[in-house]
Amino acid sequence: MYYMPTRLFFGDGALEQAKDHLIRLGINALIVTGKSSACLSGALEEVQRLLLDADIGWKIFDRVSENPTVDTVMDGVTELVLAHCDFVIGIGGGSPIDAAKAIALVAANRVDRDDIYDVSRYTKSLPLVAIPTTSGTGTEVTQYSVLTDPKTMKKAGFGTELAFPRLAILDPRYTLSLKPLVTLHTGVDALSHLLEGIYSNKRNPVIFPLIFSGIKAIYENLPLVLSDPRNLTARAEMMRASLYGGMTIAFTSTTLQHSIGYPLTSIYGIPHGLANGIVMRGIMELYYPAVKKELDALFAALGITQMQFYQWLEALQLSLDVQISEGFIEERTPEVMASRNMANNPFEISEDDIRRLYHELKGDK
Ligand code: NAP
Ligand code: ZN
Repeated sequence: MYYMPTRLFFGDGALEQAKDHLIRLGINALIVTGKSSACLSGALEEVQRLLLDADIGWKIFDRVSENPTVDTVMDGVTELVLAHCDFVIGIGGGSPIDAAKAIALVAANRVDRDDIYDVSRYTKSLPLVAIPTTSGTGTEVTQYSVLTDPKTMKKAGFGTELAFPRLAILDPRYTLSLKPLVTLHTGVDALSHLLEGIYSNKRNPVIFPLIFSGIKAIYENLPLVLSDPRNLTARAEMMRASLYGGMTIAFTSTTLQHSIGYPLTSIYGIPHGLANGIVMRGIMELYYPAVKKELDALFAALGITQMQFYQWLEALQLSLDVQISEGFIEERTPEVMASRNMANNPFEISEDDIRRLYHELKGDK
């Protein structure tokens, strides 16, 4: 069943197109963002101008760091309450937008810190606007928020239909300021989401045209935006692919491809997209027998062989620059097994499969 209640605006000037909808959401916005992305992207200035014109107040909460924590969400809720905000605008990559989703939910339902992941507590949300400045997560059109709990060092997502933003405003101009490494890692994250739409046991041919088109866009444009970061046409293609990735996982959820990366991020600080990228070939090889027909159709659509796809992936030069330990593998394998996404694998995955993938990363045969 496909469900996506988010009103979508895409392209140059998307904010202006969304204006009439945005100004009806409330009278005082909490703008949730990171240290610099909202300014560097140019999005914050344009949003402030729009709010000023419409006589809407705002308060900026710019303390969201990468891989947002439940504590940051609670700080954001405090700011929202103190400033009497009645709606939320998330500007940035997946981190600020996921934090904004959780802030809107926690504030509307007065939920305690330790209950943030308990979606049964949520019966409503404050209106939320999502303005991505990366092309990667697709969170602007998903029902998920991914947070880290510093008490357990566990990174995990939760999903509720109430978390879908009311408006998603995607303007590729906001991604022109992305640094090459963030461009690379976020692009690979989008690729993961699209591939997982093929792997997931919730896969459905209804969205295959979307998936294939998104993967083709990344295959052709990721190298281009890396060599020519100001190429707006290529940036727009990457943003379209990221959007399709979000629409895909909103339908199919993610799989082991994502669960195995979460501990790499929470323990070693590996960026989310890179964590997906370094296991991408291993996961594809593991899943291939279960989704051979679908993957072969994908390679045919790209006009390449599976080996050429691996060569393309290799040319991106994604590599792990930390040494992962045996202790990490033993401690985190059960966490991966227990994660929500494991319900969506194309066949049952064992602890040994996970250990093997981690050992491959470690360089062990
Ligand atoms: P991010 O963590 O939001 O941002 C990465 C870095 O890029 C930050 O330093 C950020 O700066 C900077 N940045 C963002 N936009 C920029 C711009 N236009 N110009 C210059 N710098 C910019 O990265 P992300 O990959 O988009 O998000 C990753 C998070 O999303 C992870 O926590 C992941 O688990 C989650 N995720 C969520 C979903 C979902 O459906 N909810 C799906 C996939 C991933 P600032 O510090 O200023 O922000
Ligand atoms: Zn992801």
